[in-house]
Amino acid sequence: MKEALYYKKLKENAVNCNLCPTKCVIKQGDFGNCGARKNIDGRLYSLVYGKPVSTAIDPIEKKPLYHFLPGSNSLSVGTLGCNLHCLHCQNYDISQADADESSSREILPKDLIDIAVENGCKSISYTYNEPTIFFEYVLETAKLARKKGIKNIMVTNGYINKEPLKELYPLIDAANIDLKSIDEDFYKNICKVRLKPVLDSIKMIHGMDTWIEVTNLLIPGHNDSDEQIKKLVGWVKKNLGERVPLHFSAFFPTYNLLDAPRTSPDRMLKAKEIALKQGLKHVYLGNVSLPGSGDTKCPKCDRVLVERGRFEVKRNDIKKGSCPYCNEEIDGLF
Ligand code: SF4
Repeated sequence: MKEALYYKKLKENAVNCNLCPTKCVIKQGDFGNCGARKNIDGRLYSLVYGKPVSTAIDPIEKKPLYHFLPGSNSLSVGTLGCNLHCLHCQNYDISQADADESSSREILPKDLIDIAVENGCKSISYTYNEPTIFFEYVLETAKLARKKGIKNIMVTNGYINKEPLKELYPLIDAANIDLKSIDEDFYKNICKVRLKPVLDSIKMIHGMDTWIEVTNLLIPGHNDSDEQIKKLVGWVKKNLGERVPLHFSAFFPTYNLLDAPRTSPDRMLKAKEIALKQGLKHVYLGNVSLPGSGDTKCPKCDRVLVERGRFEVKRNDIKKGSCPYCNEEIDGLF
């Protein structure tokens, strides 16, 4: 257990957590809404510090990040808990569980660095559940990783308050941010939170030195109409620019959202067509088997520069961050 950052004490041993926009008021003995922070005798503790429940060495393409060290491995780490409660969560078994004070498996930040180095990982990804809720663990690990030249990656829902964001993200080299929809009602009904803090976070992170890519999961009947896709793409283009990679991901029924069907390949292709037509330069399709849908093309001469299979790079022709055919710079870290 580690005493949490970003909270204040209230009367009668209650505390107020200010890590994410939920801003929980937590009575003595209770958990925060994320299940990862607990008020013990009037102090707030992170129960997940050094207590990962998922660790794996993943290709970075699985995060997904396609413009950041393609073909490299990333040590991926996640804990219990989440500050969102999405009906369609694909990792609900860990994200919707309260942390256990008695859990004995401990991997401290310095251990994560050793594992990353031993396995030739160029980065550590904070992922699987929402890394914001294991903030203290990410922060300490990220500081050590920086010293060893290992990159830090957040795979995040963006639901974090401004002050902790400002402290953490200067240490974060890349982030894949899940923009679940551009509609307030979707966030309210499906995720039980508000959209605006997510949009604010994405804009703030984009204004920092962190490389960002955006993922949008297309759920039939909930957020996949042409109008919704156009609106989301328009927001991305206006606020992040036409070269920020956008990953559309296909939905499959899971957890508490079982009445929507899988996203069809045709809908995925239509989303890509809409995004390209609106001017985005790097649009990818995930969770679906469509040849070429993960390839990176030069935004100027349109040649395929990075050819991908499922989570693997088959060919990467980018030279010193540029297209070898027309010298156009390709945004990201290659
Ligand atoms: S991080 Fe957890 S405890 Fe803190 S405000 Fe968010 S949901 Fe509540």
